[in-house]
Amino acid sequence: MIERFWETKSLKEMSQAEWESLCDGCGKCCLHKLQDEDTDEIYHTAVCCELLDLRSGDCSDYPNRFKKVPDCLQLKPDNLDSFNWLPPSCAYRRLSEGRGLPSWHPLLNGGKKHKMHAADMSIRHKTVKEGPDLDPADFIVLWPLEDVD
Ligand code: SF4
Repeated sequence: MIERFWETKSLKEMSQAEWESLCDGCGKCCLHKLQDEDTDEIYHTAVCCELLDLRSGDCSDYPNRFKKVPDCLQLKPDNLDSFNWLPPSCAYRRLSEGRGLPSWHPLLNGGKKHKMHAADMSIRHKTVKEGPDLDPADFIVLWPLEDVD
């Protein structure tokens, strides 16, 4: 049985391995976002990073992602205050807001993602790859803002 470390430790107290294991691999943070210059409001789009695997939701080159995609952001405990751009279902955002992990999270399902996909909480079947002829403003969507327990 897995130790429920996320219930006993704060995000800042977690080991690197524990921190990494919190990521559900939904892929939503790899969607392009647009920000209104006047209101700062963030809009999610269905356009994703070139490295995102559209079926699994994983990064296809995780070790080299910062080299290949210079504006890829690394989530770290000391960035906690800036997590509001993450989707509401993101484990890091949920824990930072005291909401716990949802029942479909892979850590509660033997490391498997099937319940996450079944709950429609991943990017699977809903995204397009970025490209020179594609304007993310034409692909603004609301589904990344959905969350279920
Ligand atoms: S949104 Fe959060 S949980 Fe989902 S892939 Fe990104 S970092 Fe991981």
